[in-house]
Amino acid sequence: MSTLLEVQHLQKYFDVKSGMLHAVDDVSFSIEKGETLGIVGESGCGKSTLGRVLLHLLDNTGGRILYKGEDVTKVSRQKLSELRKEMQLIFQDPYASLNPRMTIYQTIEEPMKIAGGYSKKEMEEKVYEIMDTVGLARRLVNTYPHELDGGRRQRIGIARALVLNPQFLVCDEPVSALDVSIQAQILNLMQDIQEASRLTYVFITHDLSVVKYISNHIMVMYLGQMVEKAESEELFENPLHPYTKALLAAVPIPDVRHERKRIKLKGELTSPINPKPGCRFASRCPYAKDMCFKENPRAEMIRDKHEVSCHFVHEINNIH
Ligand code: SF4
Ligand code: MG
Repeated sequence: MSTLLEVQHLQKYFDVKSGMLHAVDDVSFSIEKGETLGIVGESGCGKSTLGRVLLHLLDNTGGRILYKGEDVTKVSRQKLSELRKEMQLIFQDPYASLNPRMTIYQTIEEPMKIAGGYSKKEMEEKVYEIMDTVGLARRLVNTYPHELDGGRRQRIGIARALVLNPQFLVCDEPVSALDVSIQAQILNLMQDIQEASRLTYVFITHDLSVVKYISNHIMVMYLGQMVEKAESEELFENPLHPYTKALLAAVPIPDVRHERKRIKLKGELTSPINPKPGCRFASRCPYAKDMCFKENPRAEMIRDKHEVSCHFVHEINNIH
């Protein structure tokens, strides 16, 4: 295994009317080549912003993003456009991300046209090859997105993301807009493609059963910060952070093919705009003490590959 991506103290702030929105606040992690890191959290926790910052589609405010050892926030424009081919995004809503006036053929061909350096013949071969890979029948090549169902549209989105032979993909809720019956098909397809090409995924979702199904490691985010990170099985069997415990307790985790329930937590959400010092989860945490409202907990390695950001993680879990 070798590290493909290493993120150090990453920050992304947005200047908004009422102050500074801390969308991503001091997040660190690394991903090995060929693995899937699931990033899970409620909407507004900063996971989509994080995904876009990783691809450098948004500038970071602070910290470093090392891709194969190189800081993507500091490379030259030319190097960045080379890296862009290797790093791609799969969107949540395939319908919104596809141009309605372009056929499947044109849609899949377009990234190659933009990148340049392909002959017409090469592009044609590649379009058909990718259609085979993602399971789109070749006879559909001249159809338009509106003529297809959600699953096929997402296959086009995946095809587009794959056509430049990327190595690293950020998948932002790629199955959330799909019928549950289609979700497993798309997830299986993504796994098959990953195995065949040793792709590395960051898989962003609010859906615990999806993240469990697809990820090797999982990072749980809460209001811009990492609260817990562990290998997938370990996280589900042994959640240590009060927020993760609440998430897992709130939902029975059925098989990905079945209907799922939504995550709900009580208590007031802390604002990510000009956040006060202290743990961001303190307003909802049943274990919160004075210190939690004063100091932001740092991530601590509790056991092998299992990190938690909580002042009282030892006490709460009886770890000595
Ligand atoms: Fe709860 Fe305090 Fe731990 Fe935050 S640091 S999760 S408020 S116990
Ligand atoms: Mg989102």
